Amino acid sequence: MTEPTKYALVTGGSRGIGREICLKLGGRGYYVLINYQSNAAEAEKTLAGVRAAGGDGETMQFDVASGEAAGAAIAAWQQAHKGACIEVVVNNAGIRDDVLMMWMEPQQWHTVIATSLDGFYNVTRPLLRDMLVNRFGRIVNIVSLSGIKGLPGQANYAAAKGGVIAATKALAQEVAKKGVTVNAIAPGFVRTDMTADIDEAEIRKQIPAGRFCEPAEVADLAMFLISDKASYITGEVISINGGLYT
Ligand code: NAP
Repeated sequence: MTEPTKYALVTGGSRGIGREICLKLGGRGYYVLINYQSNAAEAEKTLAGVRAAGGDGETMQFDVASGEAAGAAIAAWQQAHKGACIEVVVNNAGIRDDVLMMWMEPQQWHTVIATSLDGFYNVTRPLLRDMLVNRFGRIVNIVSLSGIKGLPGQANYAAAKGGVIAATKALAQEVAKKGVTVNAIAPGFVRTDMTADIDEAEIRKQIPAGRFCEPAEVADLAMFLISDKASYITGEVISINGGLYT
C-alpha cells in the first residue's frame, strides 16, 4: 500500500532559507506548495529541486501580506484538492528595510510588519481547521535574533519578528491538545540574498562561530521540528546563531 501524500506549504520558498526547506521537504517525500511573491523563475527552480530530491509540488504566487490574496489562493487550492490536508506550514516569507526609527517612513514600518506578522496570520489561519480535524500539524515560523534582542535600525523588523514570537507561544497553547505544534526558529546571520548587502568579513568578527549560517542549516532545524520526533516541543523559539546571542 502506498503512503498517502503529505502536503506542506512554505512561504517565500523561491529563494534562500525557504528554498532549502522546500528541498528538504521534497527529500522526505512531501508535496510542497512553494509560495513566492514575484520571482516565478526562482520558484520554478525550487520546484525542479524538490522533484529531483524525490518529492513533488507546485508553485503558488501570492503576497502573504494580503489577507485577501493569501486566503483566496489557499481556498482555491483546498477546493481543488478536497480531502487533502496541508499538515505543515513554514511561515518563512520576510523582508527587511532597515533605517533608524528617527527616519523611518510609515510605509517602511507597515510593509515589514505586514509581511512577517500579518503574513503569519493570513497564511496560518486558513490552514488551522484541517490540522485540528486531522489531529496533526506542524507550524514553523522563521523569526530572527532581532525579534529576541532587537537590533538598531530594525525597529520595524524586530517588532514584526517579536510579534510572531508572541503569537507562536499563544497559538501553541491553543492547539497543543490536537497534536499541532507551533514553534519559531530565530536565525542570526544567514548567507542569502537578504544579507548580500552586509559586510560579512566585518560582522563575522562578532560571531563566536566565526562565520555566517548556511540556509541548509536552518532547514535542518526546521525539518527536525516538523518530524514526529519533535511532537513534544511546542511554543519554543529556537536560536541558530553561532553563539552570537544567548
Ligand atoms: P531572501 O533570500 O530575501 O528570500 C525571501 C523570500 O521571501 C523570497 O522567496 C521572496 O519571494 C519571499 N517573499 C518576500 N516577501 C514576500 C511576500 N510579501 N509574499 C510572499 N513571499 C514573499 O530571504 P531569507 O534570507 O531566505 O529569509 C527568509 C526568512 O528568514 C525571512 O523571514 C527572514 O526575515 C528570516 N531571517 C533571515 C536571516 C538572514 O540572515 N538571511 C536572519 C534571520 C531571519 P520572491 O523570490 O518572489 O521575492
